[in-house]
Amino acid sequence: MVNAHHHLYSSLARGMPAPLRRPNSFPDMLELVWWRLDAAHTLESIYWSAKLGALEAVLSGTTCIIDHHESPNAIEGSLDAIARACSEVGVRVRTCYGITDRWADDGSLQAKVSPLSAMTKGATRGLEECDRHLRAGNDAMVGLHAAFTCSDETIRAAAELAATHNVGVHVHVAEAMDDVAAGARLAPYAAADWLLVHTVHLDRDLPGVIAHNPRSNMNNGVGYAKPTQRNNTVVLGSDGIGSDMMEELRLAYVRLREFDNSSSPNVVQGWMDNARSMYPASLSDRVTWRYPDATNPWHAVFTTGMRVERVDVHDETTDSLRTVVDNGTTVLVDEDEIRHKAATAARQLHQRMENS
Ligand SMILES: [Zn+2]
Repeated sequence: MVNAHHHLYSSLARGMPAPLRRPNSFPDMLELVWWRLDAAHTLESIYWSAKLGALEAVLSGTTCIIDHHESPNAIEGSLDAIARACSEVGVRVRTCYGITDRWADDGSLQAKVSPLSAMTKGATRGLEECDRHLRAGNDAMVGLHAAFTCSDETIRAAAELAATHNVGVHVHVAEAMDDVAAGARLAPYAAADWLLVHTVHLDRDLPGVIAHNPRSNMNNGVGYAKPTQRNNTVVLGSDGIGSDMMEELRLAYVRLREFDNSSSPNVVQGWMDNARSMYPASLSDRVTWRYPDATNPWHAVFTTGMRVERVDVHDETTDSLRTVVDNGTTVLVDEDEIRHKAATAARQLHQRMENS
């Protein structure tokens, strides 16, 4: 399976310090929770966060991750750290650095950025990280955080860099009403290979693939994205809350049924299949489940807790399958060791958050 929108940097978020006050809006929640977390990341904590996320992905049968990364105080080399962690576990990753102008050049945080402001140094460095990682031959995209934290100059620069590399832009789009202007801001640049994440409040059609993240949208209370009412190809993502795509499929299904109880499991299965087509390497991988009809969507959506027995990932260089999970645990890496070291990295990360 493919997780079409992930944030591997959030795997160590569990157990993090509570926000300094209760968030009362979507931008408030970003500022008090997620932007505090990403600012505390170092290259080492990014590596362990990605490694834990990759571990949890492959244990649940997800072999391909489309990742969106941000770490404003550890930009250079961050995408390499993620790629290395995933490779060691045996998971494929197509990552990007999500550029943003929310960190002003004087280091202050701006929750909302004027479209007319100049591109910040942080955005330039993020763009350079995408460029460097792509030039090195890695599977990657160009990332934008979201229109409301980027200037027009930055959006244009991201679109131009992506076109140069013949890849799409991976961007959060109108996740909440605070980003409702995203459609108008992105329309001059969006293309068929762009990955448009959320689109809950998108007010127009934009070219690109829509990544639907039902669990995250419900958790943030931003509303239902109504993906069946869009003309775009739809894929499923976890938005950083794990990488168990069979679980995301079930949740996507019941949320869809709540909206339209004439829909069938084939609709959500189609979203999963679309993600595999978008990440063709996944089509050669094999997952063996401890449930005989796991690949039948009419079983899958109603069978909770199906467990993965074995995962074989296709190795392009030898054109053979390599077992990365057997008997429900990882083969290439020690599951317990990763969990232990990731827990240590998490404690240090949380301490930096407390001190910030
Ligand atoms: Zn996201």
